[in-house]
Amino acid sequence: MGGTGGIAEMAVTQSEALAALHRVFGYEAFRGEQEAVVEHVVAGGDAVVLMPTGAGKSLCYQIPSLVRPGTGVVVSPLIALMQDQVDALRALGVRAGFMNSTQDFDERRMVEAEFMAGELDLLYLAPERLRLQSTLDLLSRGKISLFAIDEAHCVSQWGHDFRPDYLALSLLGERWPDVPRIALTATATHATHQEITERLGMPSARHFVASFDRPNIQYRIVPKADPRKQMLGFLREEHAGDAGIVYCLSRNSVEKTADFLSRNGIEAVPYHAGLDAGTRAAHQSRFLREDGLVVVATIAFGMGIDKPDVRFVAHLDLPKSVEGYYQETGRAGRDGLPSTAWMAYGLNDVIQQRKLIQSGEGDEAFRRRAQAHLDSMLALCETVQCRRGQLLAYFGQDPDTSGCGNCDTCLTPPETWDGTIAAQKVLSTVVRLQRERGQKFGAVQIVDILLGKRTAKVIQFDHDQLSVFGIGDDLTEAEWRGVIRQLLAQGLLAVEGEYGTLVLTEASGTVLRREREVPLRKEPKKPVTSRPGTSSSSGSGRGERKGRTAAAELPEALQPAFEALRAWRAEQAREQGVPAYVIFHDATLREIATVWPTSVAELGGISGVGEKKLATYGEGVLEVLASMDGAPGPAPAPGPTAGQSSGPEAAGPDDWPELDEEPEPDWI
Ligand code: ADP
Ligand code: ZN
Repeated sequence: MGGTGGIAEMAVTQSEALAALHRVFGYEAFRGEQEAVVEHVVAGGDAVVLMPTGAGKSLCYQIPSLVRPGTGVVVSPLIALMQDQVDALRALGVRAGFMNSTQDFDERRMVEAEFMAGELDLLYLAPERLRLQSTLDLLSRGKISLFAIDEAHCVSQWGHDFRPDYLALSLLGERWPDVPRIALTATATHATHQEITERLGMPSARHFVASFDRPNIQYRIVPKADPRKQMLGFLREEHAGDAGIVYCLSRNSVEKTADFLSRNGIEAVPYHAGLDAGTRAAHQSRFLREDGLVVVATIAFGMGIDKPDVRFVAHLDLPKSVEGYYQETGRAGRDGLPSTAWMAYGLNDVIQQRKLIQSGEGDEAFRRRAQAHLDSMLALCETVQCRRGQLLAYFGQDPDTSGCGNCDTCLTPPETWDGTIAAQKVLSTVVRLQRERGQKFGAVQIVDILLGKRTAKVIQFDHDQLSVFGIGDDLTEAEWRGVIRQLLAQGLLAVEGEYGTLVLTEASGTVLRREREVPLRKEPKKPVTSRPGTSSSSGSGRGERKGRTAAAELPEALQPAFEALRAWRAEQAREQGVPAYVIFHDATLREIATVWPTSVAELGGISGVGEKKLATYGEGVLEVLASMDGAPGPAPAPGPTAGQSSGPEAAGPDDWPELDEEPEPDWI
């Protein structure tokens, strides 16, 4: 390590880092922990960096790679995204290249030659490349400034993204002891943190842990009734024309949901492991390149997608863990603009997940772990407290006890009610079926018995003769399902076997014997539908609110300029075959529309406009603004919003959930 330099030398490298930030990226200042990480790595130290998605991990290794002599070698599992990552860097004037299996011989040779000649600032590699002797030999023949291990949680065998090739990365430290290593991830639990440090062999690395809060994401979890229709309403009202990701558990529901959205005027494409690689790549590429496309996907989609303007992430099924939920929702709003994490959750989600764990592979320890993950997820769904607070506490961070003001429970605090008697009624019904009849049934039959419904199945089993028949006419069917869901979530009831029958737990007895009370969450009557400050403060009627969030944050008068800049950007992106955000981010276009620069120098002062981009696009941007009559004018009448005219197509009541479908494996 060359870390013996004096204070003067350190000051030089620090100002070099800041100069690179201004010149190359066009940014004013480092954010949060970035500065400390950059300083440490530039000085030759190892670092483990935990930062939420969107916090700016990439700069933590990109700037040191630019400042230190040699090439920064970035290990990333995301082969499909390397081309885009490299394109984005080249658009900034950074000398970047990648090596992976998608290249032909000549392309690879060229990158190798550039590396050996010291002409690369950054080289991206897939982890499996590092197993090849030829790669190691190549790396030995050039000068390496640092190793960055991106998505470092892939080394964790218990995590949801395990990649065996990551286990071999400890050799980097053995083979190049003097080259600093920086491991980065957005997965924050203590266990994962520990595993990364151990398995990558980085005992003396300094740890940088950023706040995991994503204040621009609004968290909302709604009771599931007809999820596709509920989601359609949410999208039309709040995210018309926005890009977003919808997660479903099975391939079949992915296909159906994408089809449903398309039929209702929202452009959507499916993504799951059942599609061939070409179709998957095409859909991913469209998502990155087009404005406002929705991808409906299994969890196999999204890792490393650095599209900054994903405005919403919707879950139609319950994620298996809070980690998974946070990773997936974290893909929204990387640009810091308001975004929504929306989820529909109901009784069948709980039953299905519990069943999956029981019937799944793995030993007892594995099952217990899965159960614990699910319990934390259920607690998040059922909480009456601030959701953000609960998320942050889960990741070991002290939440703001007064609530965040930007989640559904803060915006419309749910009421609680004393559900002790209701719980006893459910549990007694389960007990009676078992003790008196030796039978076990699922939630539907229990609710029918409580409500005193003489269905064919109730009559077939003589269940109208039970003493509990009809004792529950004080609640509706939906309310009883809510009670059962919460009892399952609280561990006061359990699910058994392939049919998901309900059985008692050890804790059930305490309720039946009246030894404890059961507070329950009341289902919200009026779901939250808008962001704080956007619906009422504007003073305009509800229907007039523009769907496009990025534009909605701008004053009316500036929106035409913003839209014109977006149209210009789309044209540039098409011509060059790169995603629109590689040209400029939405946040940068917003600032341009607000500042309305009239000279190249003025444009250069805007965040996100570095030297190279100023040279390439400066004139073009100024022309767009000049063609707008030179100054912000009154907004023209808003155009029609996509798909507003046709009514939602109803999904049949038993269209959801598809309990018998195979869920998608964790990754493709
Ligand atoms: P992560 O990898 O942690 O998810 P990224 O590195 O993709 O985050 O950065 C997220 C967004 O924030 C990007 O659009 C990036 O350009 C922007 N960004 C990062 N650091 C800064 C900074 N210091 N100033 C302004 N924007 C930044
Ligand atoms: Zn809150």
